[in-house]
Amino acid sequence: MIPKSAEASSRAAPTRSVPTTLSAVHILLVEDDRSIAVSLIDGLQAAGYTVTHAATGAAALQAPPADAVLLDLGLPDMDGRDVCRALRSRSNVPIIMLTARGDEFDRVLGLELGADDYVTKPFSFRELVARIRAVTRRSAATESSGDSNATQMIGPLEIDRRTRRVRLQGVEVILTAKEFDLLAYLAIDPGAVFTRTDILENVWDVNWFGPTKTVDAHVAAIRKKLGDQRWIEAVRGIGFRLEQPG
Ligand code: CA
Repeated sequence: MIPKSAEASSRAAPTRSVPTTLSAVHILLVEDDRSIAVSLIDGLQAAGYTVTHAATGAAALQAPPADAVLLDLGLPDMDGRDVCRALRSRSNVPIIMLTARGDEFDRVLGLELGADDYVTKPFSFRELVARIRAVTRRSAATESSGDSNATQMIGPLEIDRRTRRVRLQGVEVILTAKEFDLLAYLAIDPGAVFTRTDILENVWDVNWFGPTKTVDAHVAAIRKKLGDQRWIEAVRGIGFRLEQPG
């Protein structure tokens, strides 16, 4: 558990470099199918994760905070998309959706709802762990970097890579983990065009086989949150660039 004064004390004391171990990662598994849940719990625990299991949407929303959420879309009491929306409205926890095979509509909608990634059933356990590592490694790496020069200003837009916070004219903009990664990636070189392939390889996994529409969905979500389409310009046939609206 994080002590109440964690934020204050971490600033007062010199930052220690604590390696992130798998055992530190707490997974909330939201899955009503008992056989899938049991095998996932066994596998994740064997891989060193701590797992909390919720068999319903209601239980998921009452569960303690986790480092990552595995969320089945088809739950007995609630639509998984509503659970995703509710979780996302109160935290930036990485969410990986467990979707039914070939359900393209749900994938894209899920990503628009704030999920960070998805796997399609039936998925391999190895693939799932790779996705979990990808989403949790990114946030751990950013948190432990401790770089005091991590705050970048692009006009009124402030991107703090250490705390993974974004402010626009001093007002915090709540982004999902993937939205932040995408914005921070484009911000490496404001004005430069990044191709979809660059973006997919650097923000998602290199072995990402999902639709490139995923990038567009995340761009659309960031633009909406920044309140101006022009922050991220689509360069037809090439990719995207981040620039202060002129
Ligand atoms: Ca289900």
